[in-house]
Amino acid sequence: MNVHVLPAGPIQTNAYLLTAPQTGEAVLIDAPEGVWEMAQSVLKDERCRLARLWLTHGHWDHTQGAAEVVRRSGAEVCAHRDDRPLIETPEVMRPLLIPGMVVEPVKVGRWLEDGDTIDAFGEKVRVRHVPGHCPGSLMFYFEGAGAAFSGDALFRGGVGRTDLPGGDFDQLEHSIRSRLYTLPDSTTVFPGHGGPTTVGEEKAHNPYVSG
Ligand SMILES: [Zn+2]
Ligand SMILES: [Zn+2]
Repeated sequence: MNVHVLPAGPIQTNAYLLTAPQTGEAVLIDAPEGVWEMAQSVLKDERCRLARLWLTHGHWDHTQGAAEVVRRSGAEVCAHRDDRPLIETPEVMRPLLIPGMVVEPVKVGRWLEDGDTIDAFGEKVRVRHVPGHCPGSLMFYFEGAGAAFSGDALFRGGVGRTDLPGGDFDQLEHSIRSRLYTLPDSTTVFPGHGGPTTVGEEKAHNPYVSG
């Protein structure tokens, strides 16, 4: 599985395009504004077809490009039900948007729950609910590849902000300790903003939630 980091949108949100050129399989994790153009060129080069879009949560910076991705690829959208209002009626985020910004709603094809598994790239990808930054925050864990896509729950040297609607620091801390810090130390964490880190590194040095 190849991991392509595609930072896009007004606040440089990381989308991750996962591809397997051998089988033509591709999954996109998050869809900041304009991500389709970048994704499309990778898909073309690697002769892959995008069938699924997994959303780590419903904040606009992760969903603004989703409608275009769905229109152009026909990908099925997967997300957690607790972010349904943000994804299907994004106008509820208007107070948080940059003036003039438009976020189109997208239809979710599959609602994910904590403990679900998704078959992808020859392994069972584990879905973990990690609320605290956003009510419907999800993490996608590839045990075989030793990779966790954490959205805005955990960053290198940081954690997601908890002052937005539905945010709660105690809940976020619990999510990180019980769902992320329980993964092997060597697991690479790919966050929603900034560069990658590892579980061991954050347990040892994260100033907000220590291990
Ligand atoms: Zn967020
Ligand atoms: Zn974000």
